[in-house]
Amino acid sequence: MSSRQREQGHDQEPPSDSGGRGRRYVIRGGAVMSMDPEVGDFEVADVLVEENKIIEVGPDIDAPDADVIDARGRIVMPGFVDTHHHQFETAQRALLANGLLLDDGSGSPSAHPNYGEHILNGFTRVYRPQDVYINELFAGLSQLDAGVTTVLDVSQIHHSPEHTDAAIQALIDTGRRAAFGFFEGDGRAGYRYPEDAHRIRDQWFSSDDQLVSMVMGGELHLGREVYTRSWAIARELDVKIAAHAVGSWGMRPVFDEVARGVGGVQVGPDNIFIHMTGMSDQTWERFRDAGAQVSLAVPIEMVMRHGTPPILKMQELGMEPSLSSDVETTMAPDPFTLMRSAMTMQRMVVNQMVLDQGDLVPPNNYPTPAESVPELVTVRDVLRYATINGAEHLGLDGRSGTLTPGKQADIVLLDATALNTAPLNSVPGSVVSLMDRSNVETVIVAGKVRKWRGRLLGADLGRLRRELEASRDYLFKALDMRQDLFAYS
Ligand SMILES: [Zn+2]
Repeated sequence: MSSRQREQGHDQEPPSDSGGRGRRYVIRGGAVMSMDPEVGDFEVADVLVEENKIIEVGPDIDAPDADVIDARGRIVMPGFVDTHHHQFETAQRALLANGLLLDDGSGSPSAHPNYGEHILNGFTRVYRPQDVYINELFAGLSQLDAGVTTVLDVSQIHHSPEHTDAAIQALIDTGRRAAFGFFEGDGRAGYRYPEDAHRIRDQWFSSDDQLVSMVMGGELHLGREVYTRSWAIARELDVKIAAHAVGSWGMRPVFDEVARGVGGVQVGPDNIFIHMTGMSDQTWERFRDAGAQVSLAVPIEMVMRHGTPPILKMQELGMEPSLSSDVETTMAPDPFTLMRSAMTMQRMVVNQMVLDQGDLVPPNNYPTPAESVPELVTVRDVLRYATINGAEHLGLDGRSGTLTPGKQADIVLLDATALNTAPLNSVPGSVVSLMDRSNVETVIVAGKVRKWRGRLLGADLGRLRRELEASRDYLFKALDMRQDLFAYS
């Protein structure tokens, strides 16, 4: 390649051995949105990466010895963080596109199939370790392709240590940053939740210096006998504790008990609660005071009847969520869907509050918001939810979530010259309001280029898809569920 071609750059190969020992490259000439207020934003700037770390962010970085990634016309920002994704359910993608959490007795297409009966108490029970592996791997690669460089994988598939090891191996083989969530399984013989956490920690997570870390599942709805053990083990191992909090699943009473301090466990800053729909004001206040974090799966909460996503409640309490995709049985897990859902949902509610102050007819058809009306969520807000907030909630903000010198290089390049985004007038605005996964051109994890100019590297996707389809066929058969491309709609 001539130096002229290298300068122009659009046909170049990725930097060789990126992320490797002594390797340096500079991402040149992009619109850089660091998500770190101290670093700031740049209409045109460079990011210098050495091995797995960001060394410098700013205009005209002098690095003559470094390879160059041409980022002209691209938005350069931190990779997205998803704080709750059930990756093992990939074989059931879109099966519950209408599905509710539970059978509500309506006899409607939304009640059957439903999540409780057909996923948690259905498909989940027939998974073999090899099904866990291919489902987890495929979901992880798919989300990496969409620019999500960090995930909390919530796998409730730990029927045996073999199932657990398959899930962890898949997260490692995906090659992105992940927190492995050790949740429960179905309780069969050989079942070792939560005590197996000790073995898992020793066998897989003895070093802090790896892409995959560990989070403990500590579901309160499993009952006090179980959750007191899982929370105690988590604190002994010094890992965070994640738990679903869904009022419509009947969890409000046990959350009230725990919040009141009479549930046998203490809530702290190491707790991540997922959804928090339908929880009491008192529980909210106590969790806020204890420093607990909240992950919202906004589109899923709206479509599956968890309850209204509590963004306004969090605003009132001075809290901010991270965002999560939850289940691909029902909704796309890309960050653009998550950010747009959070923004449109909050604004629908607040805009109607403002309109309700008026009379809908002139002259009072467009009132000035009263002081009591919450502020509208902005594109900057949801970008924060989808990056640094997620990293903070997973305890990974020292490594990820912003483009900050010294942090790991988890970076995405988004194509702002594309048909759906040009001309570029606002970097945060374009990402949140216009982009989708087709704009995610290059994805870097810990300095290593994993997607290059639209193509995921290092994965034989054809072979993996055939393995996933074989797993899907096995699971449907084992559950005696008919495969029919039009029936479940
Ligand atoms: Zn969930």
